[in-house]
Amino acid sequence: MELNCPTCHNLLELNNGVAHCVTCDKDIPVEARCPECHKPLDVLKACGAVDYFCQNGHGLISKKRVEFVPLSA
Ligand SMILES: [Zn+2]
Ligand SMILES: [Zn+2]
Repeated sequence: MELNCPTCHNLLELNNGVAHCVTCDKDIPVEARCPECHKPLDVLKACGAVDYFCQNGHGLISKKRVEFVPLSA
């Protein structure tokens, strides 16, 4: 999915759950949400890989399906 910078609306680069804006040169905190129930996902980090887990019965969510929502600081 595509994610835009809340400041300059440029397309963000997503890397292991962190969004980076090349234009603003800053990292944008994002929250991973379940594509089914839109609740925040548990982020499980292991050996450089990141897994996303829904506690509402949807189990492990593949990174491609995770909805990333920018957090307004
Ligand atoms: Zn930006
Ligand atoms: Zn869910």
